[in-house]
Parts: sequence; C-alpha cells; structure tokens
Amino acid sequence: MVIEPKIRGFICTTAHPSGCAEAVRRQIGYVSSLPKVEGPRKVLVIGSSTGYGLASRIVAAFGSGAATLGVFFERPPTETRTASAGWYNTAAFEKQAHEAGMYARSVNGDAFSESVKEKTIGIIKSDMGKVDLVIYSLASPRRTHPITGEALTSVIKPIGKPYTNKTVDFQTGIVSEITIKPAEEDEVQQTVAVMGGEDWSMWMTALRDADVLAQGVTAIAYSYIGPAVTHAVYRDGTIGYAKNHLEETAAAIRNLLAPLYGRAFISVNKALVTQSSSAIPVVPLYISILYKVMKDKGLHEGCIEQMARLFSERLYNAGMETDGQGRIRVDDWEMRNDVQESVSMLWEKMDTQNVASFSDMEGYRREFLNLFGFGFENIRYCEDADILVDIPSLA
Ligand code: NAD
Repeated sequence: MVIEPKIRGFICTTAHPSGCAEAVRRQIGYVSSLPKVEGPRKVLVIGSSTGYGLASRIVAAFGSGAATLGVFFERPPTETRTASAGWYNTAAFEKQAHEAGMYARSVNGDAFSESVKEKTIGIIKSDMGKVDLVIYSLASPRRTHPITGEALTSVIKPIGKPYTNKTVDFQTGIVSEITIKPAEEDEVQQTVAVMGGEDWSMWMTALRDADVLAQGVTAIAYSYIGPAVTHAVYRDGTIGYAKNHLEETAAAIRNLLAPLYGRAFISVNKALVTQSSSAIPVVPLYISILYKVMKDKGLHEGCIEQMARLFSERLYNAGMETDGQGRIRVDDWEMRNDVQESVSMLWEKMDTQNVASFSDMEGYRREFLNLFGFGFENIRYCEDADILVDIPSLA
C-alpha cells in the first residue's frame, strides 16, 4: 500500500512503518554516539511508544544497555489500515534492541486497568526479576477508573475565567485569536483523575506489593511548567492542576519506596512537538517560536536529547541538583531569561504575515509529520509499504 499522511486537525490517522523505523533509528544513532552512562539495568517504561517515553526507553537501552519492558496503548495494523505510529516505533525499537542483544518486551493495553498492571508484573517476575527504574510517561485524553468504572475525560481549559490569546493552525499558518471558556469544577476533577498522580501511585503500589522493585529503585514521572504566556491554558489551567497532583504524588511515592531506599522524582521537561502537545491550543505557536529562538542560539533539543541529558547529567549523575520543590529541571534551557525574552518579543509581534519568519513553523510541521513516519527525505513514500508489521516480543 502507498501510505500518505491523512491529517485531521492535530492528529494524523495514518503512519508509515519505514518512516517510523527511520525516526527510531535516528534516535538510537544519536544515543549510540554519546558516552555510555552507568545507569539502570532493568527498566519499566509506562507510555513507551512515542514522545518522551519512547526516547526514555531508547536512552535506557542504547545509552546504558538496560533491559526494557514497555507498556503503551496503540492500534495494530489491519489489511486495510495502518497501525498507529507508536506500534511501528515499538516494532522498530524491539528489532534493533534484539539485534544488539538486549532484552526488550512490550505490553499493548490500557495502562490504567488492573489487568495490564497484573500482566506487566507477571512479565517482570518471569523475565526480569525486579526493575530498578520505573518511568511513567502516560499522556491520555481519557481513563476508565479501575475501581469505580467511571469514564473520565481530561480537558485543556483555563480555570476561573475565559482565556484569550493567539493561536496558529499549523497546517495553514494562519494566526488567529482563540478564546477558551473556563472549565467546570467537574472537568477539573476529571482532568486530575486522568493526568494526575493517582494511576502513577497505583502502579508503584502494585509493583511494590508484588515485590518486583529492586533495592534503590528510581521512579520518575514527567511534568511541564512553561512561560507566563501559556500559564492560563497550561500550568494554571486544568492540566496544571493535574500536574500539581502528579508532583505531590512524588512525595507519597518517596515514602512508599523508603524501605527499599528508593527515589521518586518529577522531571520538568521542555515543550516539544509530540502527539499530545499538538492538541493544546496556543502551545504549538509557542513551540514554533521557541524552536526558532533555541535553534538560533544553538540550544535546540528534541525528546531524545532531553532524555539523554536527563539520564547522564541528572538521574545518574552524583552531583544532581533539583529545584526548590525537589524537581529535576531539564527545561532549564527553555526557561533561560534570554530565551524567554526573545520568545516574548516575537510573540507580541506575531501574526499570519510574519509567522514564517518569526517562528520555526516549517520545523514544527516537519517534526509533526516525522511523528507519524512522514517527511524523511530518505524514505521512498511513493513505493508500496508493508503495513502488517509485528512487534517481535509483544506479550
Ligand atoms: P505522547 O502522546 O507522545 O505519549 C503518550 C504515551 O502514553 C504513548 O506511549 C501512548 O501509547 C501512551 N498511552 C496513552 N494512553 C494510554 C493508556 N491508556 N494505556 C497505556 N498507554 C497509554 O506524549 P508525550 O508528550 O511524550 O508526554 C509524555 C509525558 O511527558 C506526559 O506526562 C506529558 O505531560 C509530559 N511532558 C510533555 C511535554 C511536551 O511538550 N510534549 C513537555 C513536558 C512534559
């Protein structure tokens, strides 16, 4: 089948297997070019198929030689429809990891459910014994609560009052003003239930109870803060409430892991083009400007560079520093004063006429296509591609 990108709003409903494999190959190539890190040995990554979770898995495996077990929720291929990108990414990752002699196995299912937790624990017991690093990198618009059965939905809205700011349609480059109505109280609660720390805590408790956590285990989850211009829709909005809850959960997990001399961290990461961030209004325009400024200053990083720095300079570096609230910051370059001053200046002037020169809209579009395996110059998109790709060690 010849596969073309089919973009609907902020998602692409097709994915290219060879292009996804290329994206994974490039990330592995980058990590393999860096000095090896004396890091984790056996790693569980929850949300391992795209974005930050995939990059974390690649860094653990190819940067430290770790065995990895990945959990994700992806659509397998059928005769007539491509798989989702995370499926093809995982197939490519496992293939390369196995070729390099590393253990890599995967679970495809709803990480919020008890059955996926049980299945994952069963695999750790039979194949790995215990894990010494648990990465929690889920981003989901919904969750079925495993105890109450309630269907919960997360929304991205401001709290208290409407929020108006610039936004961009990154397909057309049209910059317009958007007003987002504030969330109802129930929407705030549901967003916290989906993207807050309850599920992270359930995972860590289940893993501890099953005795599959090694002495000195590290648990980590990812958060975002960002600049004032996005605060109303992000950090002070519904998703920010969920992130506050996630961050508070780190303290509870620290207590849970204390008998194992374990550690629990939040890493605040940089804003990047991923399937999740493209869905947030205002943020894609901010990211496009940020990309331009950081590329101009030679500071640009993607998910893989961020995660490589997280492992080598933070998590597995004896001199690791955290901020006043105990969080690891790899958004430090994004939040530098000179970077944010330049972003603010461009943001003020931004309109449809100057978006191409005042932002890296082109780079944003290319990275968006790359997420789904499109836009790589060395992939022959006009040729038939076999879409029925298996994940070698899918449990
Ligand atoms: P992403 O959409 O690329 O990845 C989400 C992952 O979660 C995928 O592997 C997906 O399969 C998995 N997933 C979703 N629902 C699932 C379910 N029910 N069961 C099992 N797996 C499921 O997202 P991302 O942008 O990499 O975000 C990962 C984390 O990083 C999030 O906590 C996010 O808030 C945080 N973060 C993102 C950014 C950014 O700019 N993208 C910045 C800082 C922090």
